Formats: sequence, structure tokens, C-alpha cells
Amino acid sequence: MKIDPSQLKITDVRFADIDGAPKRCTLIKVYTNQGLVGYGEVRDASSRTYAAMLKSRILGENPCNVEKIFRRIKQFGGDSRQAGGVCGLEVACWDLAGKAWGVPVWQLLGGRFRDRVRVYCDTDSEGGGRDMGKALKERMAKGFTFLKMDLGIELLTDVPGALSAPLGFLEKMREYKHTVFSTPHGSIDPRAMRGEAYDLFNTAHPFTGIHITEKGLDFLEKYMADVRAEVGYEIPIAIDHLGHIPLEDCIKLGRRLEKYNLAWMEDPIPWQMTDQYVRLANATTTPLGTGEDIYLKENFLPLLKSGALAVVHPDILTAGGILETKKIGDLAEEYGVQMNIHMAESPIACLAAVHVAAATRNFMSLEIHSVDVPWWADLVNPRLEIQDGYVAVPNTPGLGIESLNEPLIQEKLHADFPEAWAPTDAWDKEWANDRQWS
Ligand SMILES: [Mg+2]
Repeated sequence: MKIDPSQLKITDVRFADIDGAPKRCTLIKVYTNQGLVGYGEVRDASSRTYAAMLKSRILGENPCNVEKIFRRIKQFGGDSRQAGGVCGLEVACWDLAGKAWGVPVWQLLGGRFRDRVRVYCDTDSEGGGRDMGKALKERMAKGFTFLKMDLGIELLTDVPGALSAPLGFLEKMREYKHTVFSTPHGSIDPRAMRGEAYDLFNTAHPFTGIHITEKGLDFLEKYMADVRAEVGYEIPIAIDHLGHIPLEDCIKLGRRLEKYNLAWMEDPIPWQMTDQYVRLANATTTPLGTGEDIYLKENFLPLLKSGALAVVHPDILTAGGILETKKIGDLAEEYGVQMNIHMAESPIACLAAVHVAAATRNFMSLEIHSVDVPWWADLVNPRLEIQDGYVAVPNTPGLGIESLNEPLIQEKLHADFPEAWAPTDAWDKEWANDRQWS
């Protein structure tokens, strides 16, 4: 059937939740009156409800008018996972617009700066810095040109004298950590994250009362030195998950790590605390990055204006979708800040990020959280190939996905959502007066 883009209309929105990729992924299909189906995805570890509640607001609309649809539903996004529905539908609309007009998404964004996109992968390791260094070297042997690892107080919880905190607090953390991480989904399992556990894990950095001792700082510095001794100094390394420590401890740690030439230190303090970022940036030359929980470019602006950041690190499925992330990259460029992209979802989100990365000049690298999940790349047809640490930018229409691997999705369905692409008629009449003024 010949597609008439001007007459394309959204007729349905459905979901499939899969598990183990490694996180829970909510995949979206947006159906149209001409047989075209667009693919999107809700942010990792989020809820399909954030997207489902928007269905009635976009039914009958032409998905090619991506900005019009985005501005209609934008008010229903929020920080972090709350933006998952808005962004996931925005991505599906771009996929449909590209398929309807017969061009790849990057072309609709103004063309591309590169034909392959550098990726980095998170690396987990047991043991000490030498072990982490070896794990990172294995990544390098596979061709990765950029590395990231965790370095934070998690490594210190069993080292006597490494942390001070109100007596009893660390014991409680350990106890709950054991309960929480012995459930199938860790800190994102609702059954584990209730009551006191919820409160403990949701205490922001300035309020935990945890401080790193000199012994703790020595330990972390040695860990980093051992990593560098294994992998050398030629390759960039970013660090993440410092733990919920106050600003002064971030300063001490940042200073200790300066000589190890980090690419960036990620989310050292909550992104909302702009003034604390400025104090941190003024106190250390270790570069700072944040952004995976920030919704909309206007919320990046205070941090960019402050001059504290070296790197923005948005997630397409939180930042506001494909076009908003491109705008964030362009805005960051004006402030002399590099863009890297956070991504811990399925190949649908990965490809959405690849198109933005291709079309944004100050882009450096894209995270892939799932290189150790053997079936992850097979979720889409054609399979998503990572070659020598890069993903090729697709030249086919839309996101570049011909179809989803339905038998694999069937096999990996989340136990709480046993039916893939089930009807969502219950959401057809969801309504409120959405006007935000009178
Ligand atoms: Mg992170």
C-alpha cells in the first residue's frame, strides 16, 4: 500500500514489557490507519502507565507532526522515569515520520556529522582495582575506545575505618541492601523498596551524614591507580556511582583522582543543586558530568550557565525524546560542554540515541548497558551490531528497525505482564482539561 504521510493517523498504542535486558524495558508500538507501526520505549525501570495515560491525547493525530504532539503531551513528563511516557511516544512518532516519508531520522534532524557512533559500556567487576583493570582491558580487546566504571563508597562498606556515619546507619544500609538486592530487580523492585528501605535509598547526598575517611580516600585512590596501571593512560575512563556522599567529600575525592585523568565524574551530587556543582567545579579539575535524570532543555540551562559542567549526559527517554536531546546537545555546545548519552534500555532506545548522536556535533560517546546480555542485540531486525566499539548509523527509514523479534520478546516477557501487545482500550477515554491557564 502506498503511504500518504499527510493522511497518516494514530489509531492505537500498545506495550510489551520484557525483563533481564538487563533492566525491565517497556516497548511501545504506535499503530496507524495505513498499516505503519512506530517503535518507541519507556525509560528503563519505569512504568507503562506514563505512556498509556497519553494514548487518548494522541489518537487521531498525524504522528509526522512530532513537535505538535510533543508540545501537547510535554506537561505530563517529569524528572527521571516520570518522563518515560512522553519521550517513548515522541520516539515512536519520529520512527513513523521517517518511515512515512522514507528517510532516516538523522536526516530529519538536519543530517549527520558521523556515520558511526562511538559507544562505551558500563563494566562491573568483583575484587580490587587490578581486577577492574583486567575487565576494562577485555573491553578494549573487543575494540571499545572509551571506558566507564563505578568508583564509590560501595567499595568501602566492608573496609573498617573507611567511612564515618551516624552509628547504626551503615549497618542498616547493609541489611537493606542484602534484602533489596536478593530480590529479582534490586532497588527497582517495588516489593523491596517499601517503608524504611524506601526512605534509606531515597536519602539525597547532603543528608546521609556519610563521610569518607583518609583511609577510605587512600583505598579509592589506590583502586583507581591500579586500574590505570592495568589499562594505561591513553584511553578515557569515566566514573559513576560515587555513592550518596556530601559535597565536601566529593571535593576530597575529586582532588585525589585528578592525576588519573578522568573523562568525567558522573552525578557526584543531585543535578538540582546547581550551586553545589559550582563549588565542586571550583575545587577540583576532575571534569563533572550529569543529566540522565533531567527532563527538558530548560532544566539543563542553570547548570550550563553556571559553568560547572564539562559533560551533559542526557537519556533520550528522560530528556524529552529525540529532538529535545538534539536541542540539549546544541545548547551545551554553545556553553562549551560535550554531550555523551546515557542509555540502559533496549535496541529501540539505543537506535533513537544513535540518530541523535549522528546529528549532534558535540557528541562524544553513547552508553550501552547491555553488552553482557547475549540476546539483547537480537531484539530488533536487523540485529544491532556493535563493531569495534561503534554502532553504524542506519540509512533505512525511521529508526532503521524493520521489525521486532517477536518470538524473543515472547520468551523474555516480564512475569507481571504476560501478554505482549494486549489491547489498551481502557485508556481510550482517559481525559482531563489539560489547559494550563484560564
Ligand atoms: Mg549514571
